[in-house]
Amino acid sequence: MSSPIWHPFTQHALTPDATLVARGEGAWLDISPSGLRGAGAATAFGQQASPPYASALARAQGEANPTRLLDAISSWWVITHGHRHPRIVEAIKQQADQLDQVIFANFTHQPAEDVARALIEIAPQGLTRVFYSDSGSTSVEVALKMALGFWKNNGKDRTRIIALEHAYHGDTVGTMSAGARGVYNAAYAPLLYDVIRLPFPAAGREQQTLDQLRLAAQGAAALIVEPLILGAGGMLIYSPDVLRDMTAICRDSGTLLILDEVMTGFGRTGTLFACEQAGIAPDILCLAKGLSGGSLPLAATLCREEIFAAHYSTDRSRTFFHSSSFTANPIACAAARANLEIWRDEPVRDRIAALAARQEERLTRLRGDRRFENVRRLGTITALDLKVPDAGYLANVAPELMKFFHASGVLLRPLGNTIYVMPPYCVTAQDLDLVYDAILAAAGKFA
Ligand SMILES: *Cc1c(COP(=O)(O)O)cnc(C)c1O
Repeated sequence: MSSPIWHPFTQHALTPDATLVARGEGAWLDISPSGLRGAGAATAFGQQASPPYASALARAQGEANPTRLLDAISSWWVITHGHRHPRIVEAIKQQADQLDQVIFANFTHQPAEDVARALIEIAPQGLTRVFYSDSGSTSVEVALKMALGFWKNNGKDRTRIIALEHAYHGDTVGTMSAGARGVYNAAYAPLLYDVIRLPFPAAGREQQTLDQLRLAAQGAAALIVEPLILGAGGMLIYSPDVLRDMTAICRDSGTLLILDEVMTGFGRTGTLFACEQAGIAPDILCLAKGLSGGSLPLAATLCREEIFAAHYSTDRSRTFFHSSSFTANPIACAAARANLEIWRDEPVRDRIAALAARQEERLTRLRGDRRFENVRRLGTITALDLKVPDAGYLANVAPELMKFFHASGVLLRPLGNTIYVMPPYCVTAQDLDLVYDAILAAAGKFA
């Protein structure tokens, strides 16, 4: 019998049956029913390539139907250190034995308290309050509601949201409104609110973005941006200088700056948070994906004290009216606490720097290759656009590429003709060779 599951972002009429994943370890997914044989979890996080990887590599390369996939997109951008980091697994087990779930209005628990304190410590300066939710989309919804609540409670009529062209902030109605419009949300357009859209600050066209922001910021509620790199919009990179200038314009006009670091947070761009590279701090910061190391759903929206203070009152109508059933789930918080301990105790920054350097090395061979355009990198993320012969073909190239990569033992999911590599930080040099060999082979076939 075929599965009753309706998968996300999947056209079932054009897609083969979903691949059953049995096990994950480090940068690898086992798609055979028997599970990873003889590989201990602890081996995944050493500095050296471990034997299971070497054999997996050989196996994946030699097979048309691989039994393992190299997870080169970190399971949709969430897995940071690698699958099943032993410390996160242990924290989840221990917490499951203590407290599974509890109401978070009027109640609290130690994992949530610890994570909040640790986040305030490592977050950009000036963020003093932590609001939990359970996905990137909800962290952005919370940020937008905080911004609107701030102005309302201050008696100001500032409700307009400013966002970037090609932005992606989630798939709920509020976040879709802030995100780029297109075929993905055309059916829901009647439900979406208007935002002021700024052109993407591509290199050489930054001034246009800044000029338009200067006009739009007057009386607006907030500017929301993905700092330094727009993810789902096509891995589009812009300079830290622009982010710094946008921040200054927001400060001048009083417009709140919301940074959506749902993808960029926890090391992806080479620093813990992308905004560090611009030397700026937002008024509101959205975190999710890598917050638990990618192990369990958890999100946090951090804000400056003024925003909390605007909701602090004996007048109950000023309450921040937001909750979801699983706000600050204790097991997810325990996983996040373990993740933050890993950042504190393990050489994660060194791993990220080494990965960034290895990624750059592999890009060098591709930069002169005429089959690729816009070969680019930010921290641990690389992206390139495959030149495909005709636009009609473009519509089909992403799923075709994905199938091709799958057969090569690599999980990559191109955005249109944009191929990007966003691996977990434990990925080895040999693993990356497998990825880039597959990309070159794909260029031979499709470009
Ligand atoms: C993934 C993503 C979101 C949405 O996160 P979900 O957990 O999928 O709801 C929001 N913003 C950015 C920048 C993202 O990459």
